[in-house]
Amino acid sequence: MNNEINSSLPFIEGRGGAFCRGCLGRNLFSGLDLGELPIANELIRSREGSLERFPLHLRVCSECGLGQVEDVVTPERIFRDYRYLSSMSRTFLQHASDFVDERIKGEIFEAGDWVLEIASNDGYLLKNFLPFGIMCIGVEPAKNVAEISRGLGINTISEFFSSQLARELLDKHGYPKLIIANNVMAHVPDLIDFVKGLSVLCGRETLISIENPSLANILLGMQFDTIYHEHYSYLSTTAVAMVSKKHGLQLFKVDELSIHGGTNRYWLRTLSTISPIDSSVELFANFEKNSKLFDVSEWSHYSIKVSKILKSFREWLSNNSDNGMRVYGYGAAAKASTILNSINLEVGLLTAIADVSLEKQNRFMPPHGIKIISPEILFTESPTDIVIFPWNISVEIASYLKANLDEKVRLWCVIPEMRQVNG
Ligand SMILES: [Zn+2]
Repeated sequence: MNNEINSSLPFIEGRGGAFCRGCLGRNLFSGLDLGELPIANELIRSREGSLERFPLHLRVCSECGLGQVEDVVTPERIFRDYRYLSSMSRTFLQHASDFVDERIKGEIFEAGDWVLEIASNDGYLLKNFLPFGIMCIGVEPAKNVAEISRGLGINTISEFFSSQLARELLDKHGYPKLIIANNVMAHVPDLIDFVKGLSVLCGRETLISIENPSLANILLGMQFDTIYHEHYSYLSTTAVAMVSKKHGLQLFKVDELSIHGGTNRYWLRTLSTISPIDSSVELFANFEKNSKLFDVSEWSHYSIKVSKILKSFREWLSNNSDNGMRVYGYGAAAKASTILNSINLEVGLLTAIADVSLEKQNRFMPPHGIKIISPEILFTESPTDIVIFPWNISVEIASYLKANLDEKVRLWCVIPEMRQVNG
């Protein structure tokens, strides 16, 4: 195999495969085995190029309820040169701005209070605190992305968050008023050290907000395309409560959000608090149990359903090709990679994938060298059908496409089943 990207040594330490990265238990059962896939955000530079493949197997811990894939790829490899910018989606920007508005209205920030965001990306969220004069620190390991954030005036540390970094931050700045960790807890192989770090920085007045798509949505919403190597963990309320408690934190509230196709916001505080726990915690834990989220037989039915979705998508592509349709994809996101690499796609069934990211354009998505083009090129190529892979922002994308294309062009999503969408 002619690998275009230098391979790092396999990262296998047993976490996520042999033992649970949340509770260190050994009772993991198979949730969904997707076989061997390339790393979702690694895109090749030439049509003939190929990439290393790694096992992608979702397992669920029957002790703490954490979903997980095994460590096979180092975070350095995935996140040091990250191509995902949060600011590229209007939906995410609005969500971040709403979150900050709620905090400013709901909490009292005093002189000296500061806010920490872990995985602060390009500063899409923290920039909303700046007009209020609140000190912010972002932690963002991707150097190219951290640089954008610094350009906005946000103090950004280009490191991976850890208990060690937490101690350094505490020594220098004291306890933060608020810690935000959106879509990051799933991305850390050493989940226990990450939670220890949160605990180190959690003073009596500190609130911790963690947002992450839930394992329940993968099962109930057929969102198997959100499984990829960079998502080491798939959180559940049950797992967050259990793992936090082990390290001196208390899950006291869960909010259900519609962003990312169903995300939970978990609120943590120090375990030594005497305030009551919100009823939402028990409500969500019961919902997970009643949904058979930790039931091995439920997941084996799930595997069959996933196979059927993939088969029908493949057949749909094939039929369209036979009928002379010009099918394109939109959004060369990790979700697209999971789906396209899970089916045995023949060359030509998907003409190209359009993406707004300049970093992705002119690269190719494995396995069959599907070219990534700009939306402007897509608009000149007369597509008949477009598959929108980031279904979680399909409304935003569909209205953009409809505004720039012939109204006869059909728009589709594969998840939770093959369906037509409108702008
Ligand atoms: Zn566990």
